[in-house]
Amino acid sequence: MFFDPHVHTEGLGLSELRKMRESGVTHLCSLYFYPIKPLFPQTLIDGFRKLKEFESFRCSLVDLDMIPAVGIHPRCIPPDYKTVLEHLEANEWTAFGEIGLEVASKEEIEVFSGHLMIAMEKDLPCIIHTPGRNKREITMKTLEILSKLNFPPEIALIDHVNFENLDLVADGGYWVGLTVQQGKLTREEAVKIVEEIGEEKCILNSDVGFGENILTTVPETAKMLGKSAKKVCFENAKKFLGV
Ligand SMILES: [Zn+2]
Repeated sequence: MFFDPHVHTEGLGLSELRKMRESGVTHLCSLYFYPIKPLFPQTLIDGFRKLKEFESFRCSLVDLDMIPAVGIHPRCIPPDYKTVLEHLEANEWTAFGEIGLEVASKEEIEVFSGHLMIAMEKDLPCIIHTPGRNKREITMKTLEILSKLNFPPEIALIDHVNFENLDLVADGGYWVGLTVQQGKLTREEAVKIVEEIGEEKCILNSDVGFGENILTTVPETAKMLGKSAKKVCFENAKKFLGV
């Protein structure tokens, strides 16, 4: 049994979801992401509904236990985003994601902080993106925002961690998201990080969805993790998401 807590199921066909299930993934978290800049805040509001209703249904068809995570990704902030934040505040959710900073513009910081305040109020786990570019600098900014708000580290997963920002994230006591995917981490690098900082805070994920992806990256890396696999590829994700 594996838990892949960073998937964009909207980019995957049913046959691909089935392939993931057959490789041993039993649980996943599907994160909201709109691949172009939305023209209307309502686009996201309907998108969250689609994720909760239709994507959960598709996952159930192949016996995948799916947790929906909603929120505004820094690369798809709509005009009048306050409408989306109000909607998030007024309704019930299981988790926020994918949220965070891409270039740390004023608008991104406002949107990200808005989510964090709602998450604290509702005690919602947050899956927080870190970008490929300027990773260390943007991670520092991200952590600065979290600590200014006194955000509880046990409900914050800092994702796409690599050797550029590992020390920052691990020192803060946050969950360390390890994305094994082309351009992010190799399986060997993920194993090395787990060996270096221990299994307690590490959570492996694939970030599969809209790209050319390896669907079975979590089970394949688990084989290399030995005894740590149970925590890093299942138990820690379950604990973080509170399911
Ligand atoms: Zn993602």
